[in-house]
Amino acid sequence: MKILVINSGSSSLKYQLFDMESGKVLAKGGCERIGAGGSVTHKVPGRDNYTVEVDLPSHDKALEMVFSLLTDKEHGVISNVSEIDAVGHRVAHGGEKYKKSSLVDIEMINYLETIIPINPLHGPPAIKGMRACLRMIPTTPQVAVFDTSFYSDIEDYRYIYALPYEYYENDKIRRYGFHGTSHRYVSIKTAEALGVPVENLKMITCHLGNGSSITAIDGGRAIDTSMGFTPQEGIPMGTRSGNIDPTVIPYVMKKHGLTPDQMEDVLNRQSGLLGISGLSNDFRNLLAASQDGNGRATLALKMLANGIKKYIGSYMAELNGLDVLVFTAGIGENQYEIRRMTCENLDALGIVIDEEKNKNFERGVPFDITGKGSKVKVMIVPTDEEYMIALDTQRIVK
Ligand code: AMP
Repeated sequence: MKILVINSGSSSLKYQLFDMESGKVLAKGGCERIGAGGSVTHKVPGRDNYTVEVDLPSHDKALEMVFSLLTDKEHGVISNVSEIDAVGHRVAHGGEKYKKSSLVDIEMINYLETIIPINPLHGPPAIKGMRACLRMIPTTPQVAVFDTSFYSDIEDYRYIYALPYEYYENDKIRRYGFHGTSHRYVSIKTAEALGVPVENLKMITCHLGNGSSITAIDGGRAIDTSMGFTPQEGIPMGTRSGNIDPTVIPYVMKKHGLTPDQMEDVLNRQSGLLGISGLSNDFRNLLAASQDGNGRATLALKMLANGIKKYIGSYMAELNGLDVLVFTAGIGENQYEIRRMTCENLDALGIVIDEEKNKNFERGVPFDITGKGSKVKVMIVPTDEEYMIALDTQRIVK
């Protein structure tokens, strides 16, 4: 079975074609600058990458380009689009209706359109990607995999904000959680690596990338997560502030005469590690600067590690214990320094890492960095959201 996974952003469209029998990626790539020029990079394992500048006025055109590259005589890996058995779409938000991955149909698209007000950045491009596929390959089954659906079991006292209840009832303002596909994948892989059924494990998974979130998972079900109504809530991220006293927002808006859109830009794109350091949102740059004695880069790293620590402590309380602490995504998988800083002085909670294993970890596989005397296993587990989407798509289509 061949499954095409699509992740459609406002000006980009990423794709991966999987062969499900081997679990291998046959081809992957991305269209960039849709609506403002355009380029496509297409990668086939074992061959040179192919990049082409091409006018991409719309997501339809981008998808047309993807199909043409996948079936191209020189660069392609299939001879006809009919060889694609199903399409899996990454969809950030399923609202309160879509609590699990589901077949795409008009009813779903209509519902997703009604929740654009609470998902203004990611909703419209995901819908465009689904509509383009429905138009171009109408007989191929399509599945939407929602980042929010892993959190559909979270209890109301954990997802309701302490605001007037009408804001929840009328405006659907509540915590939804994001990155669910990654946390779910990593929880399954961790259990597999430990040889223990996921149902028997209490886990905290730390997805630390440019966007970061932390999830408490009890027996394979998420019980709480750090992101909320939007991906803004939680720990400091590359350019997002994470948690702040909400009253800071009207105060800054009044003081500096900012509009709501300008304030949102500050919170989303000018804050986090970039805002604190004034230097970069990229962990690598901050670590290098910190090692060169840059105080604000050091401050940014300390704030990140402390933010993660606070969630670990509170989620251990919510879980009433912990079996495994997991690090994943760009920073979590690759940066031993953040794992060291986070786990430093957590021995009172039974968390100790092996400094050597943490530093000389093996990349690309689940790797145990548990230290001597630790009551909690500590693991690095690579995430693969696209493969999780392909697996869900295969299960539903079958
Ligand atoms: P992500 O959003 O998961 O792609 O993660 C982006 C963040 O991870 C950036 O802050 C990078 O500094 C960091 N990162 C990604 N890949 C690597 C790598 N191979 N080595 C070190 N840091 C990395």
